[in-house]
Amino acid sequence: MTATGAELEDRLGGILSRIADAARSAGRAPESVTTIVVTKFHPESLVRELYSLGIRDVGENRHQEAQAKAASTSDLDGLRWHFVGQLQSKKARQARAYVEAVHSLDRDSVVDALGVDDGRVVDGFVQINLTDDPGRGGVRPDALEPLVERVLAAPGLALRGVMAVAPLDEDLRPAFARLRELSDVVRSLDPAADAVSAGMSHDFAEAIAEGATHLRIGTAITGNRPDAG
Ligand SMILES: *Cc1c(COP(=O)(O)O)cnc(C)c1O
Repeated sequence: MTATGAELEDRLGGILSRIADAARSAGRAPESVTTIVVTKFHPESLVRELYSLGIRDVGENRHQEAQAKAASTSDLDGLRWHFVGQLQSKKARQARAYVEAVHSLDRDSVVDALGVDDGRVVDGFVQINLTDDPGRGGVRPDALEPLVERVLAAPGLALRGVMAVAPLDEDLRPAFARLRELSDVVRSLDPAADAVSAGMSHDFAEAIAEGATHLRIGTAITGNRPDAG
């Protein structure tokens, strides 16, 4: 194994054990948390290394890059691609072909484009904006319910739950606690939609403490991203 490979293995092992500790401190089983490793800007070779270390869930935030990596790693059995970035509706149909889950359902247009009936069902998370800044992505909490109803009515989508990115200017625990309350609202509409996608490299412990079930972790595992160019 190369030096980089050994470093990757160390970082991954370290983070997975901190995740397991955070879950146990919250009185939860470590298996109740799914770790998605966000591989954006990293080469296909990193995805292969992660796979050889046991990772089966990987995430990307740009369609073209995700599509290319999914195609070139299609030999990796059981590898699941999660789309975590803003998705343009016109790319949604193409994304349906390779994604297991889309974590960024935040508009009617993207739900309609992704929710088509083509025999395949993609998992969906409704992204909620926990800030007052409309530029940050996600549906406003007061518009959550109609969007959830729309996802539930879409034949090509299976609602899994909610997703959010922590605000930059607020303490983490109260922000994730609000997400948990919004998750309760979603579960009142569909009891099966109990997943919470929250927690990144620097805030996964707080997210787990407030009920996160799906973490999206990049740099803490992969190291710094190569230049976006
Ligand atoms: C890049 C990204 C992540 C991972 O971020 P890190 O800080 O590198 O862990 C998680 N979620 C989304 C939506 C992202 O775009």
